[in-house]
Formats: sequence, structure tokens, C-alpha cells
Amino acid sequence: MWIQIPDLALPLRTIFCIGRNYAEHAKELGNAVPTEPVVFLKPVSAVCYSGSSILIPKASNRVDHEVEIVVALKDGGKTLTSAQALQCIGGYGIGIDVTARDIQERLKQKVLPWAIAKGFDTFAVLGSFVPTSKVKNFDELSFQLKVNDVLKQKGCVKEMIFSIPELISYLSSIFTLSAGDIIFTGTPSGVGVLKAHDVVKAEMHCGSDVLASLQVSVKEAP
Ligand code: MG
Repeated sequence: MWIQIPDLALPLRTIFCIGRNYAEHAKELGNAVPTEPVVFLKPVSAVCYSGSSILIPKASNRVDHEVEIVVALKDGGKTLTSAQALQCIGGYGIGIDVTARDIQERLKQKVLPWAIAKGFDTFAVLGSFVPTSKVKNFDELSFQLKVNDVLKQKGCVKEMIFSIPELISYLSSIFTLSAGDIIFTGTPSGVGVLKAHDVVKAEMHCGSDVLASLQVSVKEAP
């Protein structure tokens, strides 16, 4: 069975993620602001759709929310320029890069890959998406996340260190990109802990219009 990207009629292929793409978030975790994109991947098995639940794994005592704009590609290629990259974008959505922060910190100390801190089941939350034609003014795209109706994170694409076309161009210098690839584009500051019974809501706005949203609950993994 194909896993679908919500609302875009595209089968999901590869989940790319960008770390430290907002200066304030890099600082809050004690990381340097990067000079080239920080890239990692999540397995497709980690997808969790809106209306479902994030599962806190037994292996972690600190699972964080990272709300992010998610870009879906309708086309791909290799060594794309930023202008070519822009033409590959099929739509934008809202998502959460769920992170087992305690596991990530242990791995960072040992200079080991983050995959297991980022890849548990339900750690790639996908809300709704809109096609690019629905985004009238890209520079006005903003997004936010609330836990139990308390605002925890808000950001704007203008604050990204590397723009979305730059990210796609960079990824295509390494990976052959395809329709159905998605990219979590980094989180703004305000990341925080999720606990069982929390209700998490996130939205992507353009001006006063809500373009995409999600709602998930949080449970202990069985
Ligand atoms: Mg992230």
C-alpha cells in the first residue's frame, strides 16, 4: 500500500529533514548556526497523520515537538538550480518533526547519527497540504504550534537560514529527487516536551488565511 501525501494525490517517497534552519532554534540547543544545510532522513514508517496520536516510546524520557513547514515535490531531478527547484514544488503543508531529545543528545555527544532519535513510529506528523497555486504570497507564510491551547512555537519562512529553493537545490546536489519526496524545512525556537494526554495543534498561515492545519494527541507507546 502506498502512503499518500495528504491532499496532493502524490505517493510519499522519501522524507528529507533539515536541522538548524532557524538561527534562534540553533542557539536554543547550543548549536552553531550552520554554513551549509544540516540534512537527515526519516523512514516512511514514521508517518503520523492528523487526527492520530504521537506515541512516546519507552526508550525516551524526553520527546520534543518541532513544528515545521513541509514541502512536497511534484517533480525531481539532479543538480537543480534554485530556479529549477522552485518549479519542482507541488505544495506546502504543516508537520511536526518529533524528536527523542534525550536520545539525540546522547548520540550527539558520541558524534553518532541521529536516525533513531528521529525515526520512531509516529515521529513524522503530517497535517494538511495545499498546492503551490493556493499560496498567494510565499514570503508571508507563517506557522505556529500550540500544546493544550498554549502557543509554544511560531515562525515565518522569511526567517529561514537557507530558503526552500536553496534547500532543494542542495539536496539535489547529493540525492536524485523525485515526485513524492517531502522535506521538513526546520523548526523555529520554542521546542518543548510532549507528555501523554497533550493535545497538539499546528497551523500554516498566509496573512490571515489558514492554509494548512493538524491536530494530534499524545499517548505512551503500548
Ligand atoms: Mg526539525
